[in-house]
Amino acid sequence: MKFERLKIRKVLNTKSNLTIEVEGKFNKGRVRGSVPAGTSAGKHEVVSLPVDRVIRKFKLLKKKFEGVEFSSLEEVDSLLHEIDGTENFSKIGGNLALAISYVFLKGFALNEGLEVFEYLGGKKLPKPLCNVAGGWGKESEIQEYLIYPKVQRSIAASIFKIAEVYRQLGKMFKKYDKTFNMGKNYESAWAVRLDAKKILTIISKAIEGKGLVIGLDVAASDRWDGKTYVGRSEKEHYTFLKRLVKRFGIGYVEDPFHEDDFETFAKFTKEMKRVMVCGDDLLVTNVKRLETALKNKSVNTVLVKPNQIGTVSDTIAFVKMAKKHGLKTVLSHRSGETDDAIIAHLAVGLETDYAKFGTSGERVVKLNELIRIEEKIKG
Ligand code: PEP
Ligand code: MG
Repeated sequence: MKFERLKIRKVLNTKSNLTIEVEGKFNKGRVRGSVPAGTSAGKHEVVSLPVDRVIRKFKLLKKKFEGVEFSSLEEVDSLLHEIDGTENFSKIGGNLALAISYVFLKGFALNEGLEVFEYLGGKKLPKPLCNVAGGWGKESEIQEYLIYPKVQRSIAASIFKIAEVYRQLGKMFKKYDKTFNMGKNYESAWAVRLDAKKILTIISKAIEGKGLVIGLDVAASDRWDGKTYVGRSEKEHYTFLKRLVKRFGIGYVEDPFHEDDFETFAKFTKEMKRVMVCGDDLLVTNVKRLETALKNKSVNTVLVKPNQIGTVSDTIAFVKMAKKHGLKTVLSHRSGETDDAIIAHLAVGLETDYAKFGTSGERVVKLNELIRIEEKIKG
């Protein structure tokens, strides 16, 4: 498969920041690949270069991809690593690498007349793990409050149930927080300024009898100042999370501790038993960091964000390794998303257990794609 022409353009992400979109033209048609960006990005992620620098780099390296016959996506991704030559894509940018990797993934799929999820060989739908409320930065104790279904009949039914709770939560927050005026945060979740216990009490009420479970993304690295988590000592923070998990029947906790604390993650995972303890900034979709986590038994669940590692092949290797060791997998969006629904295809294509997407606004693009994919799979 070869592209006759590749070009690059600047487009907006959902935070209205600039990002890049690569477009490829080949005999079967055109495909596009764009890259999201994080806000609470982990320090071990691959480098994302400024858009203007990426465009200059692209002009230099596109000749290595244009008009060249590639037999597999791995070949494309290996060439990206070879050209870059660093561990973290600091020369060409992980954002440029992923945009090119996405274009080729879509090109290979289209070449075979398949959708991306089919090309990747997936048939199993994930459970949606949806961000319904939260905030960013140290002013909030916890970054995200999520909900997901205990069991799933169909993904469409799960999505509609979560959306109903989300709408209900808007009304409930208004009642308890007089300053709340239906405002939303970066992920189009309700931006509510209540403390964690109050928010969780309200969510618990909203999900009562609906077969839904609460999850948290603590995003602890953003709340860690080197000594405390938003004013709580490490011990107090640990106890605070443990009590929340118990009291509200929380089933998923992402990044409870900062991104280099493999040991406290391990202690928490062991103690919490049935709770999914997930590494995001801790692992950054990187197999080497996953090896360390496996040695330490730090997590039982992994977050998967392709732009943390820079290519689709690296993302696939990470998911495979996690599954091989019996860990649960969660394909995730970023806070600065694009208008592309490729992550819905990756979640199904790689058969991850969960898809961590937003619930409203521009985020529905991904949920609606999951609904279409389900229809295609179930016929
Ligand atoms: C997250 O932390 O899981 C997240 C989606 O946020 P960001 O994209 O800002 O890292
Ligand atoms: Mg996170």
